[in-house]
This record gives sequence, C-alpha cells and structure tokens, in this order.
Amino acid sequence: MVKKIERCSFCGREKSQTNVLIAGLDAHICDNCVTQAQTIIEEEITSKQSRYLNKIELQKPREIKNYLDQYVIGQDEAKIIMAVAVYNHYKRIKQTIKEDDDVEIEKSNIIMVGETGTGKTLLARTIARMLKVPFCIADATVLTEAGYVGEDVESILSRLLQVADYNVAAAEKGIIFIDEIDKIARKSDNPSITRDVSGEGVQQALLKLLEGAVVNVPPQGGRKHPEQKMIQINTKNILFIAGGAFDGIDKIIASRLRTNVIGYNFDKEKQQIDKGNLLQYISPPDIKKFGLIPEIVGRMPVVTFLHPLMKETLRRILIEPNNALMKQYTKLFKMDGIEMKVDEEVLDFVVEKSIAFKLGARGLRSILEGILTDAMFELPSAKNAKVLHITLDYAEEKFRKTNIAKLRVA
Ligand code: ADP
Repeated sequence: MVKKIERCSFCGREKSQTNVLIAGLDAHICDNCVTQAQTIIEEEITSKQSRYLNKIELQKPREIKNYLDQYVIGQDEAKIIMAVAVYNHYKRIKQTIKEDDDVEIEKSNIIMVGETGTGKTLLARTIARMLKVPFCIADATVLTEAGYVGEDVESILSRLLQVADYNVAAAEKGIIFIDEIDKIARKSDNPSITRDVSGEGVQQALLKLLEGAVVNVPPQGGRKHPEQKMIQINTKNILFIAGGAFDGIDKIIASRLRTNVIGYNFDKEKQQIDKGNLLQYISPPDIKKFGLIPEIVGRMPVVTFLHPLMKETLRRILIEPNNALMKQYTKLFKMDGIEMKVDEEVLDFVVEKSIAFKLGARGLRSILEGILTDAMFELPSAKNAKVLHITLDYAEEKFRKTNIAKLRVA
C-alpha cells in the first residue's frame, strides 16, 4: 500500500519541507502558515479597532466642556479636568494603535470626590454619550474578591460588553464608572494583617483591571463556571472613572494643609485657604491616607472634586440643562395639548424643600413628582383642559400630601 504524503492543506508543502505539521480532523497546517495566519488575525483586529476608533468623535477639551455645560450645571473645575483627561486618553489610544513612536502616554484614569448627588455619575455618563462609547456603572460596594459572596470584578466587564452589544473592540474603548470607591477603602492607612475581604482584597482585584490586563469574561455575567465560554477583553484602553463621597476626607486635607503651611510663609498661605470648601485642595496623598492602596492611587492619577450643590445651583438644575426636569414635565403635558405654567416662587419652594429634607438634586424630581402627579392623572382625561397653572398655593397643598412632607427634617 502506498503511504499518503502528508501536506499542509494551506500551502501544499510536504511534511519534510516544514518544521512542524499540525494535524487536524481532515487537514494539516504547517508552522509557516500558522505564523502567517497569526499576522492576518492581528492585522484584522487592529484594523477593526482603528475602524471603531475613527468612529469616536474626539472633540477638543474646550468643546468637551461646552458639551458638558449643556447637561451639568456648575462644577467647572471638575469639567475642565475631566475634559483634558478624556481628550488625552483618546489621543493616547489613537497613538497606541499607530505605534509610530516610542513615547508612551500613560492612561489618565480619574477619581472624583464629592458629596452624593452632585453630578459625578452625570458627568461620566455625559462624556460617554458625547463620545458614543459604551458606558457602564459599577457599584464598588457589591464587589468582592473572587471566591467570596458578591460580584467578581470581572462582572463589570461583562456589563460593559453587554452595553457594547458584544462588540469587543467597542467595549475595549469604553468608560467604566466605579461608584462609591471610597467604600472599599481599608480601614487604616497601614496595610492590614487580617484579611479584608470587601476592602483591600477588592482593591487588589480592581487594580488588575486598572493596570490593563487581558481578562476572561463570562459574556452573560455571573460567576465563572467551566461550561461557559469566555470572551477575552483587554482593559488597557478602557477609561476608568471612580467617584465617591469620601466622608471625612476634609479632615485629612485640613491636617495636611496645616502641616504644610507651618514655617516660612505661614501667615500668608494660611489666609489663602478657604476653610469652607477644603475639597478643592484634594490631592492623591489624601486619597491614599483615606485608605485606597497606593497602587490604585497611582493608577488613577487625575483627581478632581465637585462642589456641594447650593440653592442657586439647584434652581438652575431645575430649568437649564437640555433635559432639565421642568423641560421634561412641560413636554409631557404638551403631548396632551396642555400648556404648563409654573410661577417662579414654585421653583424656589421646590429647591428649599429639597435642601430642608437633605435630598440634593435627586430630591427635586421626587418633590416635583409629588406636586404634579394629581394633574398628570386628571388632566389627560379632562375635557377642554388647555392650561395648567402651578401657583405656590397649589404646590404647597400638593406637597403637604406627599410622603416626603411626612418625613421629619433632621
Ligand atoms: P452622584 O453620582 O454625584 O451621586 P448623580 O450624578 O447621580 O450624583 O446626580 C443625581 C442626579 O442629580 C442626576 O441624575 C441629575 O439629574 C442631578 N444632578 C446632580 N448634579 C447635577 C448638576 N451639577 N447639574 C445637573 N444635574 C445634576
């Protein structure tokens, strides 16, 4: 019987002409063709990524800020710092793809410090919307180290992948907002000897993502299990933005400022410190002292802060942003052919109640909902209803019946 000569099914080389000939079910491939195929795959992935990158509409920092201004009121310092960081981030990715020189620009992951409800998530979400990149929010408090009850950090990537409609190239250029990062701070500045499952362990796990790694991600989320097919995601170009209230960090800032100003320029510098708003002096060492491990602080080099929302800002939030609450309600009534008129005092009333009940910007919506629900229920079926006029009396009366009004002011 004549022995069949084994050949590479791709290039036709005989076995003797190759270094290695790998056998498949009913075909063979030689080492040469494997190398060539690998190059094709790499080129294909890179071109897929560049195609996606070209779709990202990268605007200049000033234009990014102008865009943010349409949706987020105030917070100018944070907007400027974010605009620059985001601009540099996407410039960096474009450079990585081209790899045309060896100056490597480092990633500019961001930490935002500010009370809850001051616009941290809104800022991150708005930037992602502007760039049309996938965006997801991860709550740091539900994350745990692998193997413990809770979510693995990989679950964040599953979510991003889902938002990106399983387009890996898109997910790899997305933005992840990590909320409440302060809640995974370790309890003291000293590395702990005992295990700290929800704090330091999670920080270590997150660090892997921040540093840039190829991670096996269960596409449907949930725990990894052997039968599930994994998708690999490289986190190198994902922008991480973390936010937290960092309760008590003002004391850390104050003590740092106090130590710094002792000596030579003592009086002059001390006068310049605005004690009412210490957050504006936030810097990475304060975050480290608060309990984030130095490696995380190092990987999130851009630090910014948000102001607490004052009466004036809250009032502007009601009417100014492109999707301001008042604009939304006006539109809802208009769809039923009803014109809504709201007296100026009503806006002040809503803002005052939100402050009194310590509800911040989030409270504006619930208060307005309380005031307007009856009208939204009745008017669509009322004959000849053309105008809804909200006076202060009307607002006060409706508000008194809401659950919020029944809360006690702390
Ligand atoms: P945080 O992430 O800081 O806790 P969010 O960004 O989720 O707060 O804000 C909660 C809601 O309050 C937002 O959806 C938005 O409607 C409103 N809001 C908060 N701050 C602002 C702001 N500066 N400008 C406009 N709206 C704001």
